[in-house]
Amino acid sequence: KKELLKVEGLKQHFPIKGGFFGRTVNHVKAVDDISFTVYEGETVSIVGESGCGKSTTGRAILRLEEPSDGKVYFEGTDLASLSKSEMRKYRKDLQIIFQDPYASINPRQSISDVLNEAMEIQNVLPKKERRKRILELLETVGLNGSQADRYPHEFSGGQRQRIGIARALSVNPKLIICDEAVSALDVSIQAQVLNLLEELQDEYGLTYLFISHDLGVVRHISDRVIVMYLGKIMEIGDKHSIFDNPKHPYTKALLSAIPVPDPEREREHIVLRGDVPSPIDPPTGCRFHTRCPFAQEKCRVDVPELKTHDGMKQSHEAACHFVEEIESGQLKPNYMET
Ligand code: SF4
Ligand code: MG
Repeated sequence: KKELLKVEGLKQHFPIKGGFFGRTVNHVKAVDDISFTVYEGETVSIVGESGCGKSTTGRAILRLEEPSDGKVYFEGTDLASLSKSEMRKYRKDLQIIFQDPYASINPRQSISDVLNEAMEIQNVLPKKERRKRILELLETVGLNGSQADRYPHEFSGGQRQRIGIARALSVNPKLIICDEAVSALDVSIQAQVLNLLEELQDEYGLTYLFISHDLGVVRHISDRVIVMYLGKIMEIGDKHSIFDNPKHPYTKALLSAIPVPDPEREREHIVLRGDVPSPIDPPTGCRFHTRCPFAQEKCRVDVPELKTHDGMKQSHEAACHFVEEIESGQLKPNYMET
């Protein structure tokens, strides 16, 4: 397995200005020291509730917002250390698809112009060969070449997402970051777009970093899953480990909220109390301790390391001090008084 993307110690702390002089008075710790690897040809999802830092992670990798700290290796090159102009070369290899492609498409440009512009910026193909490629791309994503000269408003949400995908593909990327790419679509259209993404992955050897709050979608598309909470990774593992054998109390709580596909299999039901705390002043120790039904004094003090515990597959890691005790039933759910 070839490492395509390796994120090391990534931080994104947004300054909060205040006072008369607009000094930085604090930071929103949107992403706070996360590390993970994405291998060529796989789909890795990042899941978590809104505000957990998943979209910020995608944006920091692409430097749409400059990360505060950390390294982002793409095929061994640290993107975070490149100058803006050096980074431009990599924009071709790393593409992003947003929830609403319409928002990033000029409504006065025809679809052909949109794709042509993407290719022109990245110097893909001589000008006279592009039109043919545009028609091919539209067919590839399930649209019709005859629609090339239409305008974005003439397409449905699902079709616009296909245009977004065609635009990403037009520059021959290696990695596509899908940020809530199907979240705005109806369930049946969602399935079509997910299937398209899977077909394209097989055909072009694409790698996906798939950012979503929707566990059903994540279950469908992922090879591996990263669970984030308040800017940190709580658990990481292959799809089956995360969905069928979750070890972190937060992952278990997230999963309790979705229906179990096999009703024969009981799942521990964990209901979380309270809201997600502020990322400006996140809880000490384990960030999840204010809501975790298993929290102990240690959780308030020590930051748990993301690691493989007894009884876990090697590639499966959880950031919790008490995985073994919770699994054995030695530790019973109970809310710590705070
Ligand atoms: Fe809960 Fe403590 Fe584990 Fe955090 S470290 S998930 S608070 S038991
Ligand atoms: Mg998001």
